[in-house]
This record gives sequence, C-alpha cells and structure tokens, in this order.
Amino acid sequence: AISEAGVVGAVDKELFVGGKWVPAKSGKTFEVQDPSTGAALCEVADAGPEDGMAALDAAVAAQASWAAVAPRERGEILRRAYDKLLERRDELALLMTLEMGKPLAEAAGEITYAAEFFRWFAEEAVRIDGGYAVAPNGVGRFLITKQPVGPTLLITPWNFPMAMGTRKIGPAIAAGCTMVIKPAEQTPLSMLALAAILAEAGLPEGVLNVVTTSDAGGVMEPLIRDGRARKLSFTGSTAVGRKLLEQCAEKVLRTSMELGGNAPFLVFDDADLDAAVEGAMQAKMRNIGEACTAANRFYVQRGVAEEFSRRLTERMQALAMGRGTEAGVVVGPLIDEAAVRKVTELVKDATDRGARVLTGGATVDGPGHFYQATVLTDVPVDARMASEEIFGPVAPITTFDTEDEAIAKANDTEYGLVSYVFTSDVKRALRVSERLEAGMIGLNQGIVSNPAAPFGGVKQSGLGREGGSVGIDEFLETKYIAVSL
Ligand code: ADP
Repeated sequence: AISEAGVVGAVDKELFVGGKWVPAKSGKTFEVQDPSTGAALCEVADAGPEDGMAALDAAVAAQASWAAVAPRERGEILRRAYDKLLERRDELALLMTLEMGKPLAEAAGEITYAAEFFRWFAEEAVRIDGGYAVAPNGVGRFLITKQPVGPTLLITPWNFPMAMGTRKIGPAIAAGCTMVIKPAEQTPLSMLALAAILAEAGLPEGVLNVVTTSDAGGVMEPLIRDGRARKLSFTGSTAVGRKLLEQCAEKVLRTSMELGGNAPFLVFDDADLDAAVEGAMQAKMRNIGEACTAANRFYVQRGVAEEFSRRLTERMQALAMGRGTEAGVVVGPLIDEAAVRKVTELVKDATDRGARVLTGGATVDGPGHFYQATVLTDVPVDARMASEEIFGPVAPITTFDTEDEAIAKANDTEYGLVSYVFTSDVKRALRVSERLEAGMIGLNQGIVSNPAAPFGGVKQSGLGREGGSVGIDEFLETKYIAVSL
C-alpha cells in the first residue's frame, strides 16, 4: 500500500544538476504545503542564482554529445519513461494531489496525459524530416535539415505539475536539446519525481537539470540574459510572460509562450443541451477551474438560458468538495490563500454590479483553501470576471440574442486561447469556429487538450504550439545548405 508520508519521503528534494542530486549552495530550503490543509509536506532545496548558473553550465556542457545521440535512442528513452510513469501512476497521482490539491482521479488522469506526451514525442523523434529541392534557376540545389535549437530554459506552472513538464521535456528530448527546468514553487515534487524517472530511463547526465527555487525571477533572469541558452519555453500568466519576452529580446532567444486564457463558452438555442451541460462541467470544473483552458464566460442564447442555468446549477450543487485524497471528492482546494482571495473579490465585484448567485458564492470554513462551486447569472459585461481569469470553480452566465452579438462578446478580450461552441447546426458551427479569435475551438465538447494536437493561443494568450506534429518544431532550427551542380 502507498502512504502519503511514503510518497513524499521517496522524492529526492535536492537540485538535479549534471545528473547528480545536490543541495543549494546556500544550504537553503523552502517549504511545500498541502493546499487542502495548509500544513507543511516537506522542504526542498531553494536554488539561488549560482545554482541556476551551475545548471545552465551542465546543460551547455551536455548539448553537443546529446545532439549526437541517435534519434531512435532519444525516442526510446522517452518510451521507457512513458512506461515508468504509467507503472507508478498511483504513487505519482498521490504525490500530485498532496502538493497541488486536485482530486486523486484527476491527478491519475494527468499522469496518463503527461505520459502520453512522452509516447507521442518518442514517435516524433524519428520523424524529424528534411528536404532536397531544385532551385528556380535549375542549377542550384537546396538541402534542408533540422537541428536542435540548443540548450533550453523551461518554466512550468503549478496547475498541471506533471503534464506541463512533459509537454516541454518530451519535444526537447526528441529534438536533441538539453534543458534547465524550473517548476512552480508551489508544486516542485512532481518535477523532482519526473527527473528521477528520466534518469532511470537512461537520460544522459546534464540533459535535464532541475532547479527548484522560491525566487523564480532572481534565478531565471540571469540564465535568460546569459545568452548560451537559445530558447525559453514558458507556461504561466500573461503578465510574467510579457516580462520574460522582454528579457529574451536582449539575446534574441526563441520563445514558446503558453499564457493566460479567458475562454468563452457559447451555447446556441439549437444546441444539444445535455451535451452543453456536460461540456460546461468539464470545461469549467476540470482541475477545479484552475486551467488556462477553463471556461471563464458562459454566453447562452435567450431561448435556452434559463434551462441551461438551472441544469448547470443542479450539477454544480451535486459535486462533493473536500480533500482530494478522499473517495468521491471532485472539487478540491484552490492552490493557496491568494487564489481564494482573488475568486472572492471577483465574485463580490460581479454581485455588486448586479449578478445573481444561483449556487455557491462563498469560501468554506476550516483549514485548506476551499471555494464553493458557484454559478452566477445576469453577469454584466463590465464585471471584472468578464476580462480577468477566474482560475476557480465559478461559472458566470450572460444571455445573448444573436450570433453576431455572441461572437462580438466572445472576441472582446485580449486573450485568445480556446473557445467552446455548442450548436447542432453544422453551418453555424463552422461559421462561428472560423470567426472566433482563438487558437483552439471545442466544438460541442468541453475538453480540447490532446498530446497529438497543437495546443496554443493567439493574441495575448501566447506564441507557438505544444504537442501535435508541430510541437517538436519549437525545439528545432531549420538549416538550409546551398549547393550547385
Ligand atoms: P501563476 O499565476 O499561475 O502562478 P505565474 O506566471 O506567476 O503564474 O507562474 C508560472 C511560472 O512562472 C512559475 O514557475 C513561476 O515560479 C514562474 N515565474 C513567476 N515569476 C517569474 C519571473 N519573474 N521570472 C521567471 N519565472 C517566473
């Protein structure tokens, strides 16, 4: 049997640099907490700038030999790591639930999802292609090949502690890049466990280096400005992403940016309402609403608005809330007190402006960072939650009359990650999908994430795509060799 103390105890809590576990040079550590109780789980090494630089040195030193490893071998390392992730799914899920809060079933689902990135990129490693072409003048010849971009810096968020790591590490390994990865300070344990698995799977020393730190900016900025790392791949808030883009400009690092979202969820009169309610539950409540893909604004056509709101409210009221380790729980705690404060403020702002609470709308007494599953209706367009990410279990509903009005409202945001559309009319489905400003559309479905599909946003939701057949390109440079016959 696996115990909570057992899974936490099994994790190496030092920095992983050059294939070795080492303490922070300062000797410092920081605390990791269980968001369902607020209690300390353990301490992990707290890297400073000199530790970050040692990790970058290791990545730079390993780059040339790693790029020379056969693509098949790189793929097989990923495939072995995939198998190990699935073998240890239960332990890893428990570890994730303890540090992040999501219910065990969702954590186990994330381990599978995370592992699938490794399987996908194991298959992509051997499919890096090139070309041979005749120049327009008939004399020249073009040889086109792809090479690893070089040492990369990876920064991941706390909401999907494992999958946001494998989504970057998978293509980096497949492409032949070395890495320094910095997980979020709230959830370092999943990444440390992943590093150990990759080492066991045969990843050479120095290819993956993990720095855990309570000082993200202080450690990462010098690495970005150093110039030896040639790429930054970041998943997190738009505010931090903007700052990192500025830092990357100095040495012209390539970037992949998966930033915030403000997903609209459109339900038309002609929608299959069962599917719409089911999709709404998934799009809103997956990960306790703490996802950049979470439905943030529900726009429902007048003819079905009341019925949709009633059914969604019933479903939300039936959800069991509690510690993610308890059987039957589907709503866990939010990540920390700041998250609860933000959700509380956004709900108060909406109700002050006239929104009505159909269910929920309050925090929960006792330890842990809980907020009730909430449905609001008559949410005015000027409410803060219409333009800000809620990142919690709150569904704000607004009614619309025409298709044009729905699209205008949906697009009225600086974000453009994902939009959800529910309609049974094929022409409307395609028309609306084309007009929505988003990198991804959930058409009659509430979940879009899939390792085999290109994930990413437009506008201020980011740059580049992760997953799919384009995911590996983010870690490759195209080289063209000119020759004449
Ligand atoms: P969230 O609001 O979801 O915590 P953040 O953008 O703050 O989103 O965090 C995402 C990741 O970015 C985390 O790993 C965090 O430590 C890191 N991060 C935050 N600020 C900075 C920064 N100034 N420089 C580099 N990384 C940062």
